[in-house]
Amino acid sequence: MSSATLAVWRALRRVFGSGSTEVVALAEATGEILEGDRIALTGPSGSGKSTLLQLIAGLDTPTSGSLTWPALGNRASLRPGPVGVVFQAQSLLPPLNVLENVALPLLLQGEAQTAADAAALDALRALDLDDLAAKLPEELSGGQAQRVAVARILASRPRLILADEPTGQLDHVTASTVIDVLLASADATGAALLVNTHDPAVARRFASHWEMADGHLFTMTTESSRS
Ligand code: ADP
Ligand code: MG
Repeated sequence: MSSATLAVWRALRRVFGSGSTEVVALAEATGEILEGDRIALTGPSGSGKSTLLQLIAGLDTPTSGSLTWPALGNRASLRPGPVGVVFQAQSLLPPLNVLENVALPLLLQGEAQTAADAAALDALRALDLDDLAAKLPEELSGGQAQRVAVARILASRPRLILADEPTGQLDHVTASTVIDVLLASADATGAALLVNTHDPAVARRFASHWEMADGHLFTMTTESSRS
């Protein structure tokens, strides 16, 4: 059985600045993400991991090269929608409680309030966070806030989840819980998952390992990791 291609890029290049300040953040990268993929992207700070993730998320545009989302649509339709992005520093809105924060993207996508609330509650339940529904962000621990942010992404049922150092500011036990939640959610919804991390313990949990060095991407996906 062949899996749908969610994102594919060829000779993808991203250069910041010009002249003496020019930085080649991504140099002719080629790769793809298929349905069911579980990928950890590692590499030193400044090697281009976030740059690649931002491009795949449609949050940035390449300097040259091709990047398409065959099974997901075009750049304008990725978010909110089939692509969900989890960042290191989450941005829950302080005046909104947890349920309202999780429901907000759905409202912005045009869902009715009752449907949005129901989907938000489902996502919170799936992550065992429904007890926190009425809490404000300032009442949450770092790990709880990160899991709520994951719930907010999952409420939109993305087909591709991109997480940029999602455990970067968390202790090891909390980090492991967040990765558990991401992997379990991807399994439950059939979403593909790409996680940027510099933590070897996190990377080991993933079937595929990609590495970046100086803007160069090395993909080492094994057949056995693909269903
Ligand atoms: P990583 O996520 O692996 O730490 P990044 O993708 O953030 O690496 O950065 C790759 C390189 O591109 C670094 O040299 C960084 O300084 C540079 N860079 C990233 N974003 C910008 C930007 N908006 N403006 C200028 N330089 C940038
Ligand atoms: Mg980064």
